[in-house]
Amino acid sequence: MSTCSYKSPKDTKFKCDRERDNSSIYCCFHEPIDSPKKIHPETFLERLETLLDNNDGNWVGFNFPQNMSFGNIIFNSPIDLRFSSAKELKFDGCTFEKKVTFSNSIFSEEVTFSSSTYEEDVDFSFCIFEGNVVFSGSFLKEINFQKGEFKKISSFIGTYKGPVNFSNAIFYDAVTFRGGWNHSLTAKCGAMSMTGSVTLCINSQNKERSTSFFEKIGGQINKLKEFTKGKYTFFKNKLAKEIKHRSDKFKKFTRRVWKRVTPDNSTKRNPLFHGTVNFTDVDFRRPDRTKFINVDLNKATLIGADLKGVHFYDVNLWQPSLRRQGLYDEVYAIETQDRGYLKRMLPRLEAGYRNLRITLEENKDYATATDFYIGEMESRRRQKSF
Ligand SMILES: [Zn+2]
Repeated sequence: MSTCSYKSPKDTKFKCDRERDNSSIYCCFHEPIDSPKKIHPETFLERLETLLDNNDGNWVGFNFPQNMSFGNIIFNSPIDLRFSSAKELKFDGCTFEKKVTFSNSIFSEEVTFSSSTYEEDVDFSFCIFEGNVVFSGSFLKEINFQKGEFKKISSFIGTYKGPVNFSNAIFYDAVTFRGGWNHSLTAKCGAMSMTGSVTLCINSQNKERSTSFFEKIGGQINKLKEFTKGKYTFFKNKLAKEIKHRSDKFKKFTRRVWKRVTPDNSTKRNPLFHGTVNFTDVDFRRPDRTKFINVDLNKATLIGADLKGVHFYDVNLWQPSLRRQGLYDEVYAIETQDRGYLKRMLPRLEAGYRNLRITLEENKDYATATDFYIGEMESRRRQKSF
């Protein structure tokens, strides 16, 4: 049996040694997406699970079949997916326990990474996203989108704990960066407390049961109707009374529960970024469709990122060491204690402060804009002292 003839385009050292599939020159993983020999997503998933069972995460150049979906899967070995390609790819509720590398991959349609947890580094550098993309979940370590190209609508939602690198990325269309809120409910009756969301479900079985129950009642009512009008009215009133009694009982019960479980006002802001963020030379082609909502940018390098015209909602730019709102680039330049570096940075800092001040004024955030004006003037004054 001959082996797959796939060779990675740049990393020529990589050669696939898996068996060829279905009289093709490739294995099932490297068979091109549009090939008629491409296997069904479910079969593809089964074969991937076999690889996972064997701790084989060498998935360089894999071509995912169209409409590939991963739900609640735990990836417990490092996954190397460089140079891979996919059309309509979805990861929902998955856990990546080890590093996952997608660099240099092409996603030709929609990609969704939702409610997933990434316990180690994630690398999407040099990737091309042709369709809409969603990256939501908990990124506990470093995440790299360096030189990524985002052609359609992009959303970054959730909690990004580690450093994030967007340097030199291009966003051609709308992009949203959005943090969240942690709500907690505390039970007053004891030491028990719970945090999370409460979901009300309607069980379809109950629905069926209640329908047949009312059908039965309806049948009875019709019979009674035929029997005597007076008796029907009597029955109707009795039924209405019974319904009222039960609804009052239910209301009392819910009131009792809500008295014991009440919000303790511990709704906490959970900003998107918790670590450093590199926005150096990011290109937002549609600033009018670029939104930062509930985002901490006080550890973000923003020099070179043209943020003119973007929208800010609840953005934190507070710099404790400067005792005002400002650019992390300035804090970093001061902290390095390298006078040469600071000298080189000052004109860029001045321009950075000016650009962002204009954006803040457009967003009608005059308090932050005033601090940025101070930053701009400080940078100009310092240049004269060199
Ligand atoms: Zn192969």
